[in-house]
Amino acid sequence: IEARSERRAVICDVACGGVAHDRMALAHELPVAIRRGEMALHYQPKLHVRQQRISSVEALVRWNHPTRGQVSPGDFIPLAEQSRDIVDLTLWTIRQVIEDQRLMASCGVDCPIFINIAGVLLTDTAFVREACDLIADSGARLGFEVTETSVIRDPQCAIAHLQIFAGIGITIAIDDYGAGLSSLAYLKQLPARELKIDKLFVTQLTSSNRDPLIVRSTIDLAHALEMEVVAEGVETHAALALLSVMGCDMVQGFLISRPVPLDALLAYLEQQRGG
Ligand code: C2E
Ligand code: CA
Ligand code: CA
Ligand code: CA
Repeated sequence: IEARSERRAVICDVACGGVAHDRMALAHELPVAIRRGEMALHYQPKLHVRQQRISSVEALVRWNHPTRGQVSPGDFIPLAEQSRDIVDLTLWTIRQVIEDQRLMASCGVDCPIFINIAGVLLTDTAFVREACDLIADSGARLGFEVTETSVIRDPQCAIAHLQIFAGIGITIAIDDYGAGLSSLAYLKQLPARELKIDKLFVTQLTSSNRDPLIVRSTIDLAHALEMEVVAEGVETHAALALLSVMGCDMVQGFLISRPVPLDALLAYLEQQRGG
């Protein structure tokens, strides 16, 4: 499905003139960019509503391109997923996150970090082995965010790999819940402890009639399955208040913090502890 929509995007780009060529150029530059150190990680906190504290952070990759400036992950992750580049990019991310978490620990901050894992990687045995090797003895406290659709291609294999990750202490979160083809059949089988409600349902929570119903029933469903719920895309105090009443466990979004570089995250966490 992802490959098909990507192909559609490329066809659309051709129609719009020249942009597809541009994307091909980006795709070629990606492996070099990783080696040249043009990739950086930003971190976005998740606030635990009842505990009123930051319970974890999510790592989001940024590409500081020498001539194009900052390229958004939405523009290069889909390209990377079509090649082996996603493997190198994700292994780089895991290494960087482990290093950053050590730096955080040296500043007295102990905080799990969640990494986005593309669906194609869940059936990639070599990736799973390398990722486990990096993480198993590192002492890092990590989470993986995966979408439900990522297990559809080969559910048995993907679920087995998720169980391996969960077995070495990685918290599994289901990302973008409700945005893709949701399947309750898979939801039940995944060793997931967190469910992230897609921002599609959250950004208009207080102006829409239906979104509050969808969000509330999703929270109840997740709790019935003994998962904690994260609402992403929380931009207003009104949304936060409503989510709090609905029993949502964690919130993430511009209201709490935008994704920020490590030094800014440390300053933010420091300020949270003080105040
Ligand atoms: P995602 O995992 O769903 O990440 C959330 C996206 O929503 C991020 O966009 C974040 O900056 C944005 N966001 C956060 N809070 C708000 C808010 O309050 N309002 C709005 N409108 N947006 C908000 P970003 O950083 O551009 O990342 C886009 C997507 O790229 C991510 O979606 C994720 O699927 C993918 N991605 C990012 N980093 C990685 C990575 O290291 N590996 C993989 N495989 N994918 C990544
Ligand atoms: Ca995510
Ligand atoms: Ca998401
Ligand atoms: Ca997304």
